[in-house]
Amino acid sequence: MAGELERKYDVKILSTEEKVKFPDALKEQLKELGLIDDKGKLKLKGVSPKMLIRMKQEYVKCPVLKDDIQFVQCFICPNFQSRVMGEVLCKGDPLK
Ligand code: SF4
Repeated sequence: MAGELERKYDVKILSTEEKVKFPDALKEQLKELGLIDDKGKLKLKGVSPKMLIRMKQEYVKCPVLKDDIQFVQCFICPNFQSRVMGEVLCKGDPLK
């Protein structure tokens, strides 16, 4: 099933109704990447505010970290290749 694309996992994107809080470590990471502005607002290129609200409530059961990972964190993960039809194409390399 892996096809020609070099990836290991198709990870389903799940959604929660709960209000999701970003862990501080993730916030720091986003800040370093310049994805959070001075007011602490997340901004991703090409993603509308409406989409962002939805994205914040999405998560994946990450097969590498063996944990629930927020989609935003998954999005900036080195293993992230793309998002297709509600799934993340994940390279599946070990993460430190
Ligand atoms: S891209 Fe990263 S966070 Fe997302 S599922 Fe793969 S290893 Fe986990």
